[in-house]
Amino acid sequence: MTAQTKLAFWGGLDTIGGNIISIQYEDYRIITDFGALAGVNIMDLLSKETTSSLLEENKLPKIEGLYNKEALKDFPLEAYEASDIKTIVCLSHLHLDHLGAFGQLPTDLPVYALEDTVNFYLQLDKTNLLPHYQVNWQKVTAEEIIEFGPFKIQFHNSDHDTIGAASIFVEAPDLKIIYSGDFRLTGFQPENVLDWARKAKQFEADLFLVEGTTFSHSASEPNPVDVALAEITHSINAPNEMKLMHSIETIAQANPQRLLAFNGYPQNIERLLVLAELMTTLGRTLVMDQTYFELMKPYLTGYLSVKYLDLHHNSEDYSEHAVSLEMLQNSPQHYMVQFDYERHEHIFTLPAGIYFHSNGMPLGSYMPEYEPYVRRFVEAGWDFYHANVSGHASQADLLLVNYLVQAKLVVPWHTFKPAEYGEAIEAIGLKTWLPAYGKEYSSEDIIAFRQAD
Ligand SMILES: [Zn+2]
Ligand SMILES: [Zn+2]
Repeated sequence: MTAQTKLAFWGGLDTIGGNIISIQYEDYRIITDFGALAGVNIMDLLSKETTSSLLEENKLPKIEGLYNKEALKDFPLEAYEASDIKTIVCLSHLHLDHLGAFGQLPTDLPVYALEDTVNFYLQLDKTNLLPHYQVNWQKVTAEEIIEFGPFKIQFHNSDHDTIGAASIFVEAPDLKIIYSGDFRLTGFQPENVLDWARKAKQFEADLFLVEGTTFSHSASEPNPVDVALAEITHSINAPNEMKLMHSIETIAQANPQRLLAFNGYPQNIERLLVLAELMTTLGRTLVMDQTYFELMKPYLTGYLSVKYLDLHHNSEDYSEHAVSLEMLQNSPQHYMVQFDYERHEHIFTLPAGIYFHSNGMPLGSYMPEYEPYVRRFVEAGWDFYHANVSGHASQADLLLVNYLVQAKLVVPWHTFKPAEYGEAIEAIGLKTWLPAYGKEYSSEDIIAFRQAD
């Protein structure tokens, strides 16, 4: 019997996130990604003290030869130290549903990710915006071919609401696989996605593992909280990042005397950078939460007017990068203040202005703290604007990318409705397959699936 590539799926088949697949050929194995499985608390995944109980509770994938002997205790799996299998992890991007189980990996196990991803992770770790994971990072350049035993691996730049997102191409001797990662066509670099999709077609993938987040929710009755809040708030929710920036610009220009405030998602630093550029052009300084300022430092260029809010001082000019609350109170028209939900109390000491809620916490009406949060701003006299842009491709854009890639077989995953998404992919003339957990699939199996009716 000749060697074959073997695939196994460990998470993410009918849920959003926790996508884990292992791709093995003889003694070489690639795992991509290694996030928290759906419903598992990130904090529970930090320590190897809990590995064996997490495995017992099905909160970690039962992969042989992956966990340290000491961590497994008596759990019946082959230990990393005893295994002949050489394993690497490839990481598509820095969301916890893709890297949240890294605390369970052996510290010397190589983790491959784009250089931008690793550098940004180190910043997020330093500022405590992501947990500290001790792993053996291997920085990869986009398009570089990485040889790992019989495998050739290539990372391609993509676009998502965190920097360094990649789609990953894997070539085994008998099978070509593409893992899309999470992506969208409505960010700051849609050309990256179109570019990898075009290269994917030339690659002639046997198997395309493609995210489908936006296929998860069918139209339903609007939530009564949202209906009530819509009466007292405004919306500039946008189909793409640039449209959002234009809307913010228009509102800022119409309100030159008022303070502007912004609560966004820290990992989407491209949005923060473009916002800083916009405010600089409008003659305002973007005053950031100090943690975010530290996170952004390596990405800030000299001409941007960006400072941080120092909550503990009140005198003017004590640091060239700091702005005090008093300065904001005295000349609100010169600033936009960016803040984090954790430290938002001080906002209510400032003159009420215009507030942009832009994929920041609390995220939406499904969170109990959301409604009181929104009402408090409105009652304090702020004009509250919903200013969100999705990190995920629309249904139409997902289908467009599937069509461009033209893979021989497609696995729709990272969605609550893989069957519905699969039907839509079949409707544009492609073949889909819904794998199951707990099975090992060979390259022969996969070729048979694509020929089956
Ligand atoms: Zn995801
Ligand atoms: Zn993501």
